[in-house]
Amino acid sequence: MCKLYWSTDDSGAFLYTVKAIAERYSVTSNEVTKSVTASCRAYTIEPVCSTCGNGFRISSRSHFTELRRYQARSCAECAAAVKAEADREARRIADVRRLILQERFAVIAGDQLVVADLTLRSAMTIAALLRDDGCTSDGVITPMRNRVENLAPTSEFGLELVRDAWRAGLINIHPSAPHDAFGWKDDTPNTVTLELVPFFLRGTGLPDERLTDFMTQFELLVEVKSWPSSWHDELAPVWMEIAIAEATASLVFYLRQHKLEFSPGEGTRATIAKGFEWFTLGQMFNFIWRSAKEAAAYYSRERVPKNQAANSAVTRLRNSIERAYAEGWEVKPYRRDTRLGVSTLSQLLFTRSLRLSDPLAYNPILSYRTPLKLRWDALTDESFERLIFRLASEAEGYTDVDWLMKTNAPDHGRDVAATRVRHDTLSGYTHERIIIQCKHWLSRSIADNDVSKEVTSVDHWNNPPVDVLAIATSGKFTANAVSWVERHNAKGIRPRVEMWNDAKLETLLASKPQLILDFELR
Ligand SMILES: [Zn+2]
Repeated sequence: MCKLYWSTDDSGAFLYTVKAIAERYSVTSNEVTKSVTASCRAYTIEPVCSTCGNGFRISSRSHFTELRRYQARSCAECAAAVKAEADREARRIADVRRLILQERFAVIAGDQLVVADLTLRSAMTIAALLRDDGCTSDGVITPMRNRVENLAPTSEFGLELVRDAWRAGLINIHPSAPHDAFGWKDDTPNTVTLELVPFFLRGTGLPDERLTDFMTQFELLVEVKSWPSSWHDELAPVWMEIAIAEATASLVFYLRQHKLEFSPGEGTRATIAKGFEWFTLGQMFNFIWRSAKEAAAYYSRERVPKNQAANSAVTRLRNSIERAYAEGWEVKPYRRDTRLGVSTLSQLLFTRSLRLSDPLAYNPILSYRTPLKLRWDALTDESFERLIFRLASEAEGYTDVDWLMKTNAPDHGRDVAATRVRHDTLSGYTHERIIIQCKHWLSRSIADNDVSKEVTSVDHWNNPPVDVLAIATSGKFTANAVSWVERHNAKGIRPRVEMWNDAKLETLLASKPQLILDFELR
């Protein structure tokens, strides 16, 4: 029965059907299969194992058919042997690489870290790395990927801080780093995934002694009243970095709540940074929450692609920030969403160091700005015009700066005209004719009909045509004026309107102390 069952012709086709065999022995087809399986071992003559050349052991006719369909392959024994060999080779490479890493990243003695000599940013980064069970008992700093608490508000920012500390030689990769955290070229690790590697501190003694030494020094300096003086100068920029990361994390979070995935870029960063010139983090949470909500409403209303809806949140954020500032809104601060944890770094700087009872209401940029507030009332209409003229004359990219006499204008004011040269790495230089209208208005804001009147009046100067009309004011624009300008600019017609309000002028003048002095603005 077995012989009949397995017999084939030269082409590999079975000679007898199971049914024919069953009839011959007066049993059922099922019993034929059962008896054959129990009574014999069958091996193929063709095909054979590509490695050892033996036939394959086959269990059924369908197994045989399946084997014939594939050309070269190894039998189970050979495949296991090949895999075992590959495993041995992988272990050998791993052993070799571990030795290479141990040698290359050996714990060696370096200069001791003097915390007071570090930057505020570096000191806070390292202190944050060491907190919250961030290190093992033998003084090895846990890889970022394995940390339970977030080091910084966004993982990108956390990684940037760690990378900077590593590049500055303050922390070193520990020899116990897993070899697959590296990209290897032959026997040399030439790239590293920093999230995956443990670190140890620069210094003398064992790694855990270095940590203890660092923390002892840090504890003496941590409170703001004990800070080295250089740390005070660094506070505003470091705060800004952390605040931008906090705001970015919340924007991504709220958009994700609305099922919109968003990856923040340079535009997001610039928009948020702009917001912190005028608002606190708590107020920014308000703008961000609204922008995400509006982006989601836009998505369900207009059925635009999801990424377009998500990206629109940044434009909405920028518009609401500018409008709120221009109109002088009272912006209600929002609390941090409890689902967004406080990062170790924020906790360390705001609560432990600065001892702020309400970190979200804190903004060192705002308080720095207050003394920079310029005395606009020291100017007359005429001196305001001269100030704008000087500002344009000294600005990079502005040429042919000149006065335009408005002989028949009711206010007899003078506008400043200039050519603005812009450079683009691909298309080269472009020239725009810009007219700057000066409005030294302290008692009331510039309204939409004021702007529209000015846009119409620019027609007088249409030879050569005016590309940009900038309205410079020592005051503000109303919200209606801001929306009017947005709508106008969206049409893409000449002239494009730019709004330069008091805050913008203050920012521009901040880097021009001579002008502030000459015009007695402080
Ligand atoms: Zn084989």
